[in-house]
Amino acid sequence: MEKFCKSCGMPMDNPEDFANNNQDSHYCYYCGEKEAYSKEEIYEKNMEKEEYYKKKAKKKKLKK
Ligand SMILES: [Zn+2]
Repeated sequence: MEKFCKSCGMPMDNPEDFANNNQDSHYCYYCGEKEAYSKEEIYEKNMEKEEYYKKKAKKKKLKK
């Protein structure tokens, strides 16, 4: 079952995509823990997220 982050809309289909690995969370790994991170760390996480989206897009293309 695929859930979507309420903050950024990222699809979350793996436990590690959720904040704190909590599949009941409404937020993704990148959005759920923002308070715990510095601006630099959030920036890095946003870069990670872009890479994640790119990988997902590639996967979808390969499936077709
Ligand atoms: Zn998010």
